Amino acid sequence: MNDRIIREIPLIERYSRHNEAEDMRFRTYLKVGIDHSNEELDSVVREVTDDVWEQIDCTKCANCCKSLQIEVNKEDIRRLAAKFSMTPQQFTRKYVLTGTDNSKYFAAMPCPFLGSDNRCTVYDVRPAACRDYPFLNKYGFRTRTFMMIESTAVCPIVFNVWDALKDRLKFRSKKQ
Ligand code: SF4
Ligand code: SF4
Repeated sequence: MNDRIIREIPLIERYSRHNEAEDMRFRTYLKVGIDHSNEELDSVVREVTDDVWEQIDCTKCANCCKSLQIEVNKEDIRRLAAKFSMTPQQFTRKYVLTGTDNSKYFAAMPCPFLGSDNRCTVYDVRPAACRDYPFLNKYGFRTRTFMMIESTAVCPIVFNVWDALKDRLKFRSKKQ
């Protein structure tokens, strides 16, 4: 149990800005400063994530649904369109933007499917990006460290996992 969990978005934004230089050093430490294999590091991250996640209620936050542009793929659009009895083309015209690199995103932010109770109204057919967010439990944490640093200012779970890992992996005690 981590007894110094920080949940407030303005605070994690402020601390993330303040920690920028240290976070980049920790990123290097994760890549070359520890002996853990990718599997061993993923296992530590999973353990820390489980501990933090059970202390944070996403329905009291929903900051990812409010402040991120959500990427959608063809299959996401097909599933969501079917839920609203629309064709993928109709759904795309109403809800989706295409970027210059051809990637597709929900046009609106906050997400148009976020309910007033902070719950997802399309939970059973939500985009893959929403299912996987905040990407802590996917294989290869070491390859996503830059994304994690960016997410520390958005997601209290990432912020607290990243912070706890600095202790757990002895980054702080070695005074990097
Ligand atoms: S995943 Fe992170 S940002 Fe999204 S609701 Fe949960 S704590 Fe908030
Ligand atoms: S689809 Fe659901 S989980 Fe995804 S951003 Fe919208 S409200 Fe959040």
